[in-house]
Amino acid sequence: MNATQELEAGRPGTRLPRPTMVEVLDSRHLKTAQRRHAQAVVLLSALGLALAVGMLAAGHVPTWIDLGIFSGMFLAVGIGSTVGFHRHFTHRSFKAVTPVRVLLAVLGSMAMQGTVIFWVSLHRRHHQCSDAAGDPHSPHVSDQGRQHRSFLAGLWHSYIGWTFHHEVPNAAYYARDLIRDTPIARVNRHYFLCVALGLLIPAALGGMLHGSWAGVLSGLVWGGLIRIFVWHNMIWSITSVAHVFGRRDFDSGDASTNNLWLALPTLGESFHNNHHAFPGSALMGLKWWQPDLGGWVVLALEKLGLAWDVGRPSAELMEKKLVGVRPRRA
Ligand SMILES: [Zn+2]
Ligand SMILES: [Zn+2]
Repeated sequence: MNATQELEAGRPGTRLPRPTMVEVLDSRHLKTAQRRHAQAVVLLSALGLALAVGMLAAGHVPTWIDLGIFSGMFLAVGIGSTVGFHRHFTHRSFKAVTPVRVLLAVLGSMAMQGTVIFWVSLHRRHHQCSDAAGDPHSPHVSDQGRQHRSFLAGLWHSYIGWTFHHEVPNAAYYARDLIRDTPIARVNRHYFLCVALGLLIPAALGGMLHGSWAGVLSGLVWGGLIRIFVWHNMIWSITSVAHVFGRRDFDSGDASTNNLWLALPTLGESFHNNHHAFPGSALMGLKWWQPDLGGWVVLALEKLGLAWDVGRPSAELMEKKLVGVRPRRA
């Protein structure tokens, strides 16, 4: 496979083996665990919102310290999610030194969107089946490929509904590379410790910077619970909105779209049509006016010598895939 094909179809390590093994696991135990995890996310988010409202009612308006803790945690965990889980581990769109890889895996785990091996498996399945039977979160069809009852039912399914009842991807099929990746498999085993760290670190920061127990609570609420709630909503916008509304600049073979208005809070993820057209590209913003914070982080890592082999589509390749441009006959 040459570099051009890699940017269109995925890079070495992301190619799936021949379908000699099952792609999804029919396990009641795993399905229950997955549903409980989704319920825990909703409960923690609701707890965060209730505590925030309660504190506001009691006159505890968030201070610059609270907003700083929220922003710092949001950026760190969001980068772990988009740069680590998505661009590096799922699509191998750049290579990096081990300490950076481990840090990205730990930060991404703090997002509470499942372990790195689970996340990668599910997302590779999304690309494999995008907007067709097997896609875990398409606004157009169910896992089984049936059309949703209505437009709103499809939007609900692709936003949050899918998290409660999607099929469980077989990690041995989808993420064999990561199962064999010793340091990353170790982070995977310590997933709940990472999630707990994502709550303890902002709580400790809040306590130290405010110098009070009330500060511990506000750090936990803003940097932990509300941050989990907000970043989940950002990712759920990508699974739903970015397959329905917006611009379709490239022929990606699915319904993915680009949404400039979501670019800043999703750290560049909202250029989702660019991403589906070139999954091997580490950059999701492909024009100067498409802000892609995650991509800028990869470029900074490359400048520092901590990342290399950064995937970028050439101008010719982008031209070839523009919507409405038919491939020339040889
Ligand atoms: Zn992807
Ligand atoms: Zn997608």
